[in-house]
Amino acid sequence: MSFINTPPQISIPITGSAETFPVHQIYCVGRNYQKHISEMGYSQEKTVPFVLFLKPPDAVVQNGQTVCIPGFTNDFQHEVELVIAIKKEGSKISEKLALEHVFGYSVGIDLTCRDLQNEAKNKGRPWTFAKSLQNSAPISDITPVEKCGYLQEGNIQLSVNGNIRQKNDLKNMIRPVQKIISELSQFYTLFPGDIIFTGTPDGVGKLEKGDRIFAEIDGLEPLTITIN
Ligand code: MN
Repeated sequence: MSFINTPPQISIPITGSAETFPVHQIYCVGRNYQKHISEMGYSQEKTVPFVLFLKPPDAVVQNGQTVCIPGFTNDFQHEVELVIAIKKEGSKISEKLALEHVFGYSVGIDLTCRDLQNEAKNKGRPWTFAKSLQNSAPISDITPVEKCGYLQEGNIQLSVNGNIRQKNDLKNMIRPVQKIISELSQFYTLFPGDIIFTGTPDGVGKLEKGDRIFAEIDGLEPLTITIN
């Protein structure tokens, strides 16, 4: 087969390997830590809905790069998240078999225009301009499960200019990795190259020009990003 052109193939480095991980889709889960649900002003729910949105593949920003604050927002915020990298196709995957689809994990930041998101919520519009922007998904190099194991707990934190803003534990995720994969695959067929952001803990906040972000999760390659 031949193609009429060659659009960019977005990819993410893999720790300890010369090979890279080509990105297919980027799925993002919302409302996955109770304290973040509270800080966003949602009332306590017995059953937290499965909130999902997507980012385009060119949302990916490599470790060590600089992200510019878009001119159309006055409230550009950080959300540190565990990111799952998928290696195997599947749909309607059971929780029991879900981890067989995991290639590895990264530290990611779901960069969000909170003012546009609040406006969209108020007006019943989609979150696209708040969440699904190019360069809105910095991701650290992927650590394969052979090196870090299957993550169910561990420290997740984000600092801005040396001050800790977000700090929590992966064990507090309302939906753990296997449940997210199972639930997502009821709606979408997952493919190798898919990336899943798993939701942020509390402590999200505004970023300013010149900020230096350091995000880390136990056992994974940390992520450094500069804001401009
Ligand atoms: Mn998020």
